Amino acid sequence: MTSDRLREPLKSVLGARTANGLAKLGVETVGDLVRHYPRRYGAPGEMTNIGQLHLGEHVTVMAQVRSAQVRSMRSRGGAMLEAIVTDGSETLQLTFFAKRAGVLRMHEDKLRAGRTGLFTGTVGEYRGRRQLTHPDYLIVGVDADSEDQAVLEASRPIPMYPASSAVPTWRIGRSVRTVLDPLTEDDVPDPLPAALLESRGLPSLREALQLVHVPDTTDDWKRGQDRLRCEEAFVLQTALARKRAAHQHLRSVPRPEVADGLRDALDSQLPFPLTDGQVTVGRDISADLASSKPMLRLLQGDVGAGKTVVALRAMLQVVDAGGQAALLAPTEVLAAQHARSLRNLMGSLADGGMLGGADGATRIALLTGSLGATAKRQALAEAASGAAGIVVGTHALLSETVQFADLGLVVVDEQHRFGVEQRDALRDRGEHPPHTLVMTATPIPRTVAMTVFGDLETSTLSERPAGRAEITTHLVPADNEAWLTRTWQRVKEEVAQGRRVYVVAPRIDDNDADGPIEGSVDSDQSESATPLDIDDALVAEDPKVPLASVAGTVDELTSRPELAGVSIGLMHGRLAPEDKDAAMARFASGATPVLVSTTVIEVGVDVPEATMMVVLDAERFGISQLHQLRGRVGRSSLPSLCLLVTRAQEGTVARERLDALAATTDGFELAERDLELRREGDVLGASQSGGKSSLRLLRAIKDATLIEDARRDAYALIEEDPLLEHHPVLARAVADWLDPQREAFLDRG
Ligand code: ADP
Ligand code: MG
Repeated sequence: MTSDRLREPLKSVLGARTANGLAKLGVETVGDLVRHYPRRYGAPGEMTNIGQLHLGEHVTVMAQVRSAQVRSMRSRGGAMLEAIVTDGSETLQLTFFAKRAGVLRMHEDKLRAGRTGLFTGTVGEYRGRRQLTHPDYLIVGVDADSEDQAVLEASRPIPMYPASSAVPTWRIGRSVRTVLDPLTEDDVPDPLPAALLESRGLPSLREALQLVHVPDTTDDWKRGQDRLRCEEAFVLQTALARKRAAHQHLRSVPRPEVADGLRDALDSQLPFPLTDGQVTVGRDISADLASSKPMLRLLQGDVGAGKTVVALRAMLQVVDAGGQAALLAPTEVLAAQHARSLRNLMGSLADGGMLGGADGATRIALLTGSLGATAKRQALAEAASGAAGIVVGTHALLSETVQFADLGLVVVDEQHRFGVEQRDALRDRGEHPPHTLVMTATPIPRTVAMTVFGDLETSTLSERPAGRAEITTHLVPADNEAWLTRTWQRVKEEVAQGRRVYVVAPRIDDNDADGPIEGSVDSDQSESATPLDIDDALVAEDPKVPLASVAGTVDELTSRPELAGVSIGLMHGRLAPEDKDAAMARFASGATPVLVSTTVIEVGVDVPEATMMVVLDAERFGISQLHQLRGRVGRSSLPSLCLLVTRAQEGTVARERLDALAATTDGFELAERDLELRREGDVLGASQSGGKSSLRLLRAIKDATLIEDARRDAYALIEEDPLLEHHPVLARAVADWLDPQREAFLDRG
């Protein structure tokens, strides 16, 4: 049944140049290539608007040949071919040079007037005319064996693949045909059960691949895509159903509330009343903890919604019941800050075993990868003995060497930084898994939550604590010196009033080409700007203007007259942990009221006096990443300001994203808008490399019904065949999906 044809490396099937180019796109085997679906389809005759091409852009243009002529060049010797192509109104010149005219005849013969083709190259200019020099091109239908075939080819939808300048879309198309043609039904085993194919009238996998790669009509590729989308939803839901089934027999230790314990003591000393949302969610969590069914709850709440205190109350319920709680943060900075703010909220309740500690007080241990040996030994001892009711840390807490006396609850802050694997690693410890609370400020639309975290209960904190002032957001064009000057003056004014200002840059220093390299597991994971899926035909980067860096910005601001006399601090993931802490402390105290930083400060950092943020090269960041960043200000009753400095031009998607951000501070609205704008993106989907992602076509919002149907079918199937013994192909697809490297989803910020 298994055929290894899909695993065959492309190097042995295609030319080295094409195979290497495809490898750069993450496409390495026959299987990868047939799963490299077209991202859209061109209709023959649907021409590219030539008037909208920009100089320097790498483009693929569909156009009709108007003329082509070989000339010899008297002045320079050699020959040139000049062709003119048109979209019906504007024209573009194609130019080829050669030593002798003969070499160019081949092009001349293909580029006959009236024919339509795709032309790829970088837009240049010669004597005021836009042109492509030595473009790579494909003439539609010209390779057909017969006249009939040519007519058919010419009327086919044209698959447009995610491509690169090294491998243009039609070369991918040809390669796909080369590998697809010889594949039989048996070579392409179908994960979808036969019964399901039949009941839904879906084509087989082999057929669907044919339909999406070599469609005769628009209906063809749509039918193929529908089936592939269905497959993605079904495999995903089966994976989730399996996980759930595997967890169903697990029992946790119930941790019911205890009257007059630490939690009640905390409630009576909180400096603010809980919001209604905090109370309601708190009740749900409290009930979950009292049950022997392992809690698995996702708490969503926009930045500043007050999730920490909800987590603390849950943790104290567990401590009151005799257990311990662990709080996992994505970065060292955040872990340290959590420990600090929990100690602040608890006061003497966290001074267990110390002079002045309250009755029944516990301790909070902070355990991170870079602690000194003594501090580490002490923290480990407190965790193992149970002296610390609460242990705060990063991934280091997941290491096997960390022992707990009786771990009853794990709180994971900012879930989108963790893979599900890591979450499960904690949950699967010992015979009684701890209860789990996952918190995120990245609003996850219901359909996504259901799809990705099918087995989680969800709670939402929708209101922000009262008394918070508004955050106003404006765009600042990077090339407008007057606005920039005003921006820095404004920074100075804030500082003069005793407030703090963050300045965010996408890079650490000039050596840092694509964002920082991760040093250790504890390094801040998404410090660089989220790479955006930019269609290289639409956006060309201006290589002459480098991205702002933390180091460069500190230099620049120090010499700016507007900021004379202002102390400027800096922060990024490559600093040693104690330097990070020191930098944060100096910023919080006001010793350095301006902090230039990478996105290390993206999540959770809480300095209420911070009232202004300037984001440099803002278009480099994703919507929700910017929303997270912006959440670092507006954390008190003081009105706050967020300035997005950008080169994004009006009319680009990048600009639209920034405009959306300026228009609202509602995280949920932004999440939906983000989904709309990210045509190519897939919030559901796995790795950013794209090539390996298991979810290519499925879209959380658009395909909600499909996902729900798949969920029903998948759960029924797992009920019947829990280990998928009768569905080996599906079992393998599920195993592939559960592959941990694919679980970095929701990491796109
Ligand atoms: P997030 O949900 O982003 O993690 P935090 O838990 O850090 O938010 O809370 C943000 C700030 O709001 C903190 O300073 C916290 O002490 C404060 N806070 C939390 N709950 C309330 C409340 N009910 N009323 C007033 N302030 C609150
Ligand atoms: Mg938080």
